[in-house]
Amino acid sequence: MIYPPDESLLTHAPEFLPMRKINTRNFRLATRSTPREVNRRIVLNLIREYQPISRAELARRMQVHRGTMTPLVRELVESGVVFEKGTAATARGRRPTLLCVRTRGRHVVAVDIRPGRSVIALADVSGHVSARESFETPEAPEDLPDLLATEVASLLREHAPEGIDGCQGLGIVLPGMVDRKTGRLIYAPRLGWRDVDLRAVVAQRVGMKCYIESAPIACALARLWLEPDATRTVNSFAYVSISDGIGVGLAFNGEMLRGEGHTAGEFGHVPLDANGPECVCGRIGCWESLACNSATVDRYIELSTGIPTPKNGATKRPARGTLRPGIDEVVRRARGGEPAAVSALVETGHHIGKGLALVVNAFNPGRVYVGGEITAVWELLEGPIRDALAASTITDRARATPVLPDSAPAEYRLRGAVALVTAPGYAALAVG
Ligand SMILES: [Zn+2]
Repeated sequence: MIYPPDESLLTHAPEFLPMRKINTRNFRLATRSTPREVNRRIVLNLIREYQPISRAELARRMQVHRGTMTPLVRELVESGVVFEKGTAATARGRRPTLLCVRTRGRHVVAVDIRPGRSVIALADVSGHVSARESFETPEAPEDLPDLLATEVASLLREHAPEGIDGCQGLGIVLPGMVDRKTGRLIYAPRLGWRDVDLRAVVAQRVGMKCYIESAPIACALARLWLEPDATRTVNSFAYVSISDGIGVGLAFNGEMLRGEGHTAGEFGHVPLDANGPECVCGRIGCWESLACNSATVDRYIELSTGIPTPKNGATKRPARGTLRPGIDEVVRRARGGEPAAVSALVETGHHIGKGLALVVNAFNPGRVYVGGEITAVWELLEGPIRDALAASTITDRARATPVLPDSAPAEYRLRGAVALVTAPGYAALAVG
């Protein structure tokens, strides 16, 4: 399906501006009365999106004379954000240098907080993960800052010789709602964490800039900022994260939709089945209780052993020392063709599709991305997802909404954490 380009993002109301993505096909250069930084960011976004790109091509895309653009490019090259590489052959034989955004030597520490065990990783600014470690998630959120200080120091000592100096910042994703302005965690049901100031305390303990965000919102940001090719024609989309819980990040015209109380996209706790399992939130048959990873594992155990699992299977923390397989193991067995694993995942796909219908009906996104360990067997999920989506949507266009798996099932949340750190450097500034 082909989508028309979105309208100019620079013409949207200023109140929507923080973290807004610059539309590189339809922009307006700032004039003398607007900050030079706006132009700098437009140039940076164009280079990132069309790299490697020559100065002549850049000027053509910007519809300005090269003289206007040259000082902006020089500034980006001198600051090390952009570098010149190689040459491109031209018909006349002149060989211009090409511009690229520098990713090497610019690191980000990414942290994915989950119930049970969390992951800490070193990545470059494009989201490529070079090292990762895991650590036990503390019971109390107050213990997190000191623990992270230790883990970050250890990670950098082992894997980043330049230490904290080469680090752009620390991005943390977690399964809960976050007030982006204050960096306060509002509520994370699966962790049992509520109303806790994290960002400032972590930044102070770790000694670097810290960003914290709900995992699905961060994952949607990663689609916008780390994969501009994929989202070039679709600036309004939903990102559905299926892991320990289910969360939805909503991108609207290149910016995240958060809602008045930071609960936009909380579709996970909408009840879909009155006879379903008990959810961590205390309700019955929430979308999350039917399609999250522990629901899939429960279903697999039930199908493979014939022993029904208790209907409150959505436990907050995995029991320690049990032989219960993890979701990766169920996915592996499904890949090997084990019927119980295949059936469990097919049914999960059906439940995912039922919930997606809610998202599509409420938000009408141009596209839906699904992230999660289970997307490694997308071929099992896609059919049931599409069928269930079609059964509960009312127009052909809604039924045909493209649903795509995230390309990095093992790293999608870490890439989200990276995007938290890198996106602000590219985002549009308030104009006027
Ligand atoms: Zn619930």
